[in-house]
Amino acid sequence: MSTVLRDEGPSYDLLGVGFGPSNLALAIAVSEHNAASRGPHLNVRFLERQKTFGWHRGMLIDDATMQVSFLKDLVTMRNPASDFSFLCYLHERGRLVDFINHKTLFPLRVEFHDYFCWAAERVGDLVRYGTEVTAVRPVVDGAEIVRFEVHTNTGEVYSARNLAVATGLIPSLPDGIVESKRVWHNSDLLYKVDEMSAASRFVVLGAGQSAAETTALLHSRFPDAEVCAVFSRFGYSPSDDSPFANRVFDPAVVDEFHGAPPEVRKQILDYHANTNYSVVDLDLIEELYRRHYREKVLGVERLRIFQASRIAQLAETEDGVRVTVESLTTSERTVLEADAVVCATGYRPGDVTTLLGDAASICRRDDAGRPLVARDYRLLTTPDSGAAVYVQGGVTEHTHGITSSLLSNNAVRAQEILDSLLSRITAARAGEAGAAPADSNGRSTYAHAAVGVVG
Ligand SMILES: Cc1cc2nc3c(=O)[nH]c(=O)nc-3n(C[C@H](O)[C@H](O)[C@H](O)COP(=O)(O)OP(=O)(O)OC[C@H]3O[C@@H](n4cnc5c(N)ncnc54)[C@H](O)[C@@H]3O)c2cc1C
Repeated sequence: MSTVLRDEGPSYDLLGVGFGPSNLALAIAVSEHNAASRGPHLNVRFLERQKTFGWHRGMLIDDATMQVSFLKDLVTMRNPASDFSFLCYLHERGRLVDFINHKTLFPLRVEFHDYFCWAAERVGDLVRYGTEVTAVRPVVDGAEIVRFEVHTNTGEVYSARNLAVATGLIPSLPDGIVESKRVWHNSDLLYKVDEMSAASRFVVLGAGQSAAETTALLHSRFPDAEVCAVFSRFGYSPSDDSPFANRVFDPAVVDEFHGAPPEVRKQILDYHANTNYSVVDLDLIEELYRRHYREKVLGVERLRIFQASRIAQLAETEDGVRVTVESLTTSERTVLEADAVVCATGYRPGDVTTLLGDAASICRRDDAGRPLVARDYRLLTTPDSGAAVYVQGGVTEHTHGITSSLLSNNAVRAQEILDSLLSRITAARAGEAGAAPADSNGRSTYAHAAVGVVG
């Protein structure tokens, strides 16, 4: 099959892969930069495999709230005057005063999702939805990578001098558990429960926020069903969002973290894991405990807690799943016949270098084989390259700290990537004797025209 190289004039200064909150924040930063007409105009495009903007839609539970202050929205931390802020969104939706009266820093998750959609629509001209990036091929001139060819599921190939890869996290199932019609990850929760009219028993594996939310939702949505929560801890543990601990999310900490020796970084991640991993909002813990205790009093226990336990065996039957739960302390086994097993067992960062295929060998790695990432979020490569791959998300947790996979630092990170891009483009233009000049709109033409047919 031949692939058509999109003919969009000069290739992009920056092509974003994935359009979740990370690249959305970057798109807004770029569009504000372009609108301000200070410095070179940037020609950017973002490719997103979903058909429309969507942020963890499978977990948009009606009453779930954000776990980050609304002030850490897409822009406020870098530009409090931006009209892409959550407050501007509220104003446009006519809810500003109602939100103020609510006296909370933590909006509903569905509301923040609507905020993201509102913002994404306003930069919609920069995004192509329904387009999955399937491969990235570096184009080399001598020893230097000068640009990338980006291949997509639509057969189109894009050309870009720089990439911003923010493809998010991948749902993770425990070793030995295979996804099926009745065994699934909580990332599909709302889709799956919508398909079920009745159920008599669920098993939920995990003790983090998503596990607790899943347990609560199944327990209220299926009033005749038993919900068995299985986890290796003795109980759900609260997330630490106290003020001093919260400093681990400060933008300035990224500097400190990035400059620290690897063993110190690991220590910091371990110390503060309970700000994010395997922990639950205290309100939700108390709500679940209330339900559990009330059922004890009433003598009908639908919410069953299998603490310090694991799933020892899982067998699909004709009309369900047979789950063998084993106590870690006594080895006692309990067999449960369930309609479904929900693995609320977290996410893992994808290997960003997979997209690069064979060319991934140019990425420099640490002793543990993880990609080395510069402070400005560029993948470090050998040879050093004029073209760059910026990465955002959990893939930089080992280099940039715990905010990497979260929203807290989105706005500031977008500015840092934009600054890096601008300074590299300015330097490249200055260094390109006889370089293609800016076009009449001030657009960069230093990169390569993407016209033709390959492959
Ligand atoms: C249920 C849930 C609730 C959360 N709540 C919070 C919270 O309250 N506060 C907080 O700080 N963090 C929260 N998080 C953490 C979460 O990781 C961030 O909120 C955020 O989603 C990170 O944004 P991102 O853009 O890096 O990744 P994502 O949001 O995962 O977006 C990545 C995008 O890339 C697209 N994509 C992937 N591969 C390709 C490809 N090859 N080609 C094209 N597109 C591709 C995906 O479709 C997706 O749209 C939550 C996570 C979950 C799962």
